[in-house]
Amino acid sequence: MAATRLGVLGWPVAHSRSPAIQNAALAAAGLSDWRYQLLPVAPELFDEVVPALPDAGFAGANVTIPHKGAALALATGPTPRARAIGAANTLVFTAPGEIAADNTDAPALVAALPVAATGATALVLGAGGSARAAVWALLDAGVEQVTVWNRTPERAAALCSELGGTPAAGARPADILVNCTSVGLDGGSPFDRLPIAAGDLTSFGCVVDLVYTPAGTVLAHEARARGLPTVDGLELLIGQGALSFELFTGRPAPVAAMRAAVAGELAAADGR
Ligand code: NAP
Repeated sequence: MAATRLGVLGWPVAHSRSPAIQNAALAAAGLSDWRYQLLPVAPELFDEVVPALPDAGFAGANVTIPHKGAALALATGPTPRARAIGAANTLVFTAPGEIAADNTDAPALVAALPVAATGATALVLGAGGSARAAVWALLDAGVEQVTVWNRTPERAAALCSELGGTPAAGARPADILVNCTSVGLDGGSPFDRLPIAAGDLTSFGCVVDLVYTPAGTVLAHEARARGLPTVDGLELLIGQGALSFELFTGRPAPVAAMRAAVAGELAAADGR
């Protein structure tokens, strides 16, 4: 019998950790006839390639940069949260011609929060795709006040007028700090590019950094060094992947196997 296929659609996508995480999960769940692969697809081909995937044996796909908006547009059954955020990261081919779409970045963030969301205050750094999911998720989870700072202030203003939250020209203390910029991805200090200094971190109740690097980000390291509850980008990567796995397979995600796969991948990357 042919394998049931899953994959991650992106352009470029070679760097993605999703095949390692999802194949480990499929193996741990005993789904030995399922395979998860990279699906490098150029933007101009996306609308043609995706509808053809079910006939090629695909049950679903994750979606990453730059296709999350196009994935939503192609879906016949987007969830209300994917529609509100304006981006889908999970597609499931439910029936011929039917494409269900969801955004698992948002619930993964809420599930990972180390403090209660209800009535809390939050500062979101960034106004790109992941900031949209974060702002929507935090407000939906009951965060009372979400402030958004972005390097390009007009984008923060546009995001807030669409999704809620308040744009700000600088940082202000909050229960939850979420870094949704790509600052820190280079392994360097983020404090020269964000509106906070390392010493300011204690004005936050917890820190969530969406960015991940093999050695861990400086932001997450500095937050932990100050005793702050801290969630790093790897935990969020596993969280969104676990929720996607459940949508694909209808089974509970073997999260420990997924975490072990990521750790193994990063150790290998660090050694290269
Ligand atoms: P994006 O849409 O490209 O947005 C990038 C954001 O970073 C923008 O707000 C941009 O500000 C800001 N930025 C970039 N360079 C900057 C600099 N030098 N100084 C200050 N701000 C800067 O990207 P995204 O999809 O939101 O992703 C952001 C990060 O989150 C990426 O590193 C991505 O890998 C990570 N991420 C992780 C997960 C996970 O599961 N852990 C999920 C999604 C994303 P401007 O508007 O001024 O350009």
